[in-house]
Amino acid sequence: MNVLVINCGSSSLKYQLIESTTEDVLASGLCERITIDGAFTYKRPGKEKIQFEAPMPDHTAAIKVVLNQLTDTETGVIKSMDEIGAVGHRIVHGGEKFASSVILTDEVVKAIEDCCELAPLHNPANLVGINACKELMPNVPMVGVFDTAFHQTMPEKAYLYGLPYEYYTKYGVRRYGFHGTSHSYVSKRAAEVLGRDVNDMKIIVCHLGNGSSVCAVDHGKSVDTSMGFTPLEGLIMGTRSGDIDPAIIEYVAQKENLSLSEMMNVLNKKSGVLGLSQVSSDFRDLDDARDAGNAQAALTLDIFRYHVAKYVGAYAAAMGGVDAIVFTAGLGENDALTREGVCSYLGFMGVEFDAEANNFRGEERVISKPESKVKVLCIPTNEELMIARDTVALLK
Ligand code: ADP
Repeated sequence: MNVLVINCGSSSLKYQLIESTTEDVLASGLCERITIDGAFTYKRPGKEKIQFEAPMPDHTAAIKVVLNQLTDTETGVIKSMDEIGAVGHRIVHGGEKFASSVILTDEVVKAIEDCCELAPLHNPANLVGINACKELMPNVPMVGVFDTAFHQTMPEKAYLYGLPYEYYTKYGVRRYGFHGTSHSYVSKRAAEVLGRDVNDMKIIVCHLGNGSSVCAVDHGKSVDTSMGFTPLEGLIMGTRSGDIDPAIIEYVAQKENLSLSEMMNVLNKKSGVLGLSQVSSDFRDLDDARDAGNAQAALTLDIFRYHVAKYVGAYAAAMGGVDAIVFTAGLGENDALTREGVCSYLGFMGVEFDAEANNFRGEERVISKPESKVKVLCIPTNEELMIARDTVALLK
């Protein structure tokens, strides 16, 4: 069956068409600047990338462009829309309602709407994508795969904050965690690569990208993760502050004469490695700046690696040990220096890092020495494949 995987943001839409038996990606790409003007990218394995501008006044128009391209007589990969057996949607927030992927019935869509309050920037965009697909492909079954679902196995001691308990019971204030589809895929794949059963392992996954999170996966289940009520908590990220003393918010707001929402904007968009380095939110720019002698960029990179290592230490304690540490996402997959920098803190727990094996980008590899007590791996994440697998499994 061909599964169309859709990841819908407020002005962008990523898509992949995956043949579920072979798990081959038939085509993939991106619609950007939706509601503004519209830019389209289309890729097929082994073929030249196609890019053009097309008006995309809304997400329905964007999905129309995708479907037209997929079925194009010359450059398409399927003959007609009938060859799309199902659509899998990435959905950011499932609250406490969804601990696994689900078929998108009207009732489920309503429940996702109820979660909008918890993810005002993301869930409404995901819903727009669902409704657009429903309009264009009314008879194709759809499945929702939630970023938060994998973390629903966290125990209360991991997900409750030290706040008045009624904020949890009245408003759902708790740790939810994100990147769950990635943490789930990467931990399973790491166990496979090591020839072991994920249900028999303690794994720490470091998903390091523009947004970053660490997850403790104990016997295949998420037991703790660094993102919290929102994706703002945890590691220092591209532009997000990660963990700070909450008292700073009032203090700086008063000094700088900022409102609460202006302060939240600073924490989400102007902090993290961008704010610290004053250079960029992109680690490639920071690497270049450090190489050019920028001490602030070098310090920022140090701080980032130190924070990742601290979370790894904390999660090893949370699980009473660790068998494997896995790096994934833009930075985890591509930046050898970050992997090495994080591991330089972890010798005490039995990590024997293999600097030679680490010299690569974007491959599945073991980067610890064979005798290392704790294995270290790089596993490229594949959230789309995970979504396609869940979609097919649910429809069977
Ligand atoms: P997102 O959270 O937006 O999905 P990604 O997982 O794609 O982000 O990660 C994007 C980030 O990965 C970039 O901002 C960049 O900092 C980092 N990155 C990608 N390639 C490299 C590289 N070769 N070296 C260093 N950093 C890289």
